Amino acid sequence: MLVDSHCHLNFPELAERVDEALALMRENRVTHALCVSVTLEDFPGVRALAERYPHVYGSVGVHPDYPDVPVVTEKDLLERADHPKIVAIGETGLDYFRIKSDTDWQRERFRTHIRAARRCRKPLIIHTREAAADTLRLMDEERAGEVGGVMHCFTESWDVARAALDQGFHISFSGIVTFKNAEALRDVARRVPLERLLIETDSPYLAPVPFRGKTNEPGLVRYVAEEIARQRGLTVEEVGAASSENFFRLFNIRKDAHA
Ligand SMILES: [Zn+2]
Ligand SMILES: [Zn+2]
Repeated sequence: MLVDSHCHLNFPELAERVDEALALMRENRVTHALCVSVTLEDFPGVRALAERYPHVYGSVGVHPDYPDVPVVTEKDLLERADHPKIVAIGETGLDYFRIKSDTDWQRERFRTHIRAARRCRKPLIIHTREAAADTLRLMDEERAGEVGGVMHCFTESWDVARAALDQGFHISFSGIVTFKNAEALRDVARRVPLERLLIETDSPYLAPVPFRGKTNEPGLVRYVAEEIARQRGLTVEEVGAASSENFFRLFNIRKDAHA
């Protein structure tokens, strides 16, 4: 049994073939998927999928890679998070790779998300790229650890993982862990405590080996689990069981609620 803790099933590449994607999930025994929102504009699409499919859940957040959207308020997030299938706040965080110039608004937006998460007591889905120090500092300053969450699509060093774990966060690995040049990341994947480990696709992006360059989809999370199992000397069933347990606990999801 496997769970995809982070996908974008509502993005056009997948939205036009949702039924096929859900069929591959069944085939690969992927029982649940969390569809993550990146803007308030895309949120209704996320919510519609979560309402339509019992084993699909959603989140609400405005991603740091979107500079030209209206300022998001705590109220905007809280109103949308007040829904039984919306289980997290995010994705949010900092991305200094895509956006180099003025990034004050990114930090402000990130703080807003952490405050909203603390108010509604839902966990955070955090994206960080070339911004690890600031990400960890803001998490600490805003006491993100009170609700916890996940550092998604993790690509940072063990030191960053350690600091996030110390703040009570989980670490989620994507198909990047299967990439040829990702030896340092595989080392991190061997060291994260099993009870804090999640797996994800971040589909439609980042298809794992041997599908690299193709459209990714939730069913392919199996290949992420297989690589982590190989690295840790575990079976894929053991990695699947542990990461799924972590998913249900973190996002407060009842295990039996699937199709
Ligand atoms: Zn992300
Ligand atoms: Zn994402």
